[in-house]
Amino acid sequence: MAITYPSYSGLKEALFSGATTAEELVNNYLQKIKANAHLNAFVEVFETEAIAQAKAVDAKIKSGNAGRLAGMVISMKDNILYKGHKVTAASKILNNYTAIYSSTIVERLLAEDAIIIGSCNCDEFAMGAANENSYYGPVKNFADETRVPGGSSGGSAVSVQAGMCHASIGTDTGGSIRQPASFCNAVGFKPTYGTISRHGIIAYASSFDQVGTITRSVEDAALLTEVMAGPDEYDSTLMQAKPASLSAELKKVEAPQKIAYLKEALERPGLDPEIKEGLLNAIEKLKQAGHTVEPVSFEYLDYVVPTYYILTMAEASSNLARYDGVHYGYRSPNAVDLTTTYKRSRSEGFGKEVKRRIMLGTFILSAGYYDAYYTKAQKMRRLIREKTCEILERFDFILTPTSPELPPKIAQEERDPLVSYLADIFTVQASLSGLPAISLPVKNNAGNLPFGLQLTTKRRNEQGLLNFSKTFLDLS
Ligand code: GLN
Repeated sequence: MAITYPSYSGLKEALFSGATTAEELVNNYLQKIKANAHLNAFVEVFETEAIAQAKAVDAKIKSGNAGRLAGMVISMKDNILYKGHKVTAASKILNNYTAIYSSTIVERLLAEDAIIIGSCNCDEFAMGAANENSYYGPVKNFADETRVPGGSSGGSAVSVQAGMCHASIGTDTGGSIRQPASFCNAVGFKPTYGTISRHGIIAYASSFDQVGTITRSVEDAALLTEVMAGPDEYDSTLMQAKPASLSAELKKVEAPQKIAYLKEALERPGLDPEIKEGLLNAIEKLKQAGHTVEPVSFEYLDYVVPTYYILTMAEASSNLARYDGVHYGYRSPNAVDLTTTYKRSRSEGFGKEVKRRIMLGTFILSAGYYDAYYTKAQKMRRLIREKTCEILERFDFILTPTSPELPPKIAQEERDPLVSYLADIFTVQASLSGLPAISLPVKNNAGNLPFGLQLTTKRRNEQGLLNFSKTFLDLS
């Protein structure tokens, strides 16, 4: 059976010493994927191609010209384009769509000899936090199959959790990497907005969307981010400077750090008692290790979810206008003219949650309501960002739970959307502010269900965040 390596360095040693081969690894992962097919984590498995890639990588290792990710077997969320492969954003409207080019990140990962084993189930167009809004049905949490894996990158998180690949690439608009990572005992890292190219990523809300990693270790988050990051002529929202080498500089932080925790977060009535205890324990351990940990007030906490949803729905309604039954994707067989092609293709092609957001987003942007909702939410976003950055002037990191709840049961009926949206309360602050944030699994928690804690830091302080994450994991 597959041996799972906690980080790529151990795997690399095994590959380069001849203890294992990329082909053997791929075969082992393929077996695991088959054995766990009922978890519904994959939309498509690229079996033949992954084996061929593995053979090529093994030859490169032998001849001494292998790339920095040689033999790292990864999965990718089903909203990342890989030329010649089906990509659907877990939506019926793209069910018959094949990517006609590769995203920049796929090109960069392949250039370093990563092996892509398949595409992962997710919430439709990355809208959701439980992976229940998928055309392909819900994904099951490997820790407890009656529970959700989180979302929207739920399949990605489970593919790592159940050892079906080494690491996974997802996207995070308002927590879609961090929250499923916390539900599935993994490290979920979202870098600063504008770090990684989104060329060839299916858009949800463009002023928030960011690519990130779900891994078993902080080391792998650093390595994968480093390979994917940096300017790309196809994405003008990227920062022009490539972040410094994250993996080479990765080391535990010895010096005392200043950590803020949000008073309002700790006092929230909806916070699960076990998660609260985990947070309090972490605060205690950090203090014992000599760090300064202080409560701060963040008076906008109640506004982060409404602000996030008004803005993302508005952006989504515009981004998803392209699925019209004409350009590509699903076209209704019941259409008789142009108008019915638009109407019926969209009505039949999109799922319920996506339609809800398109309609609300269109309403928010409509002439009479634009100022009342969209403009006001933009102003709120600015206040949230300014306040968050002001806290990060005084502190190195903000510590919060990743999610207020433990993985809920897979629901037979639709959840109340407002209740679901509120569960994003701790992850959207970093997204509204464009800041880097990471979810780290809490070890030795009392119950059997995984959960994580989140650290957020200043813009572009990926190195500081990853270094401190190593320190933090050792404490917990
Ligand atoms: N749960 C959030 C939403 O539904 C976040 C999704 C995401 O980050 N893609 O919008």
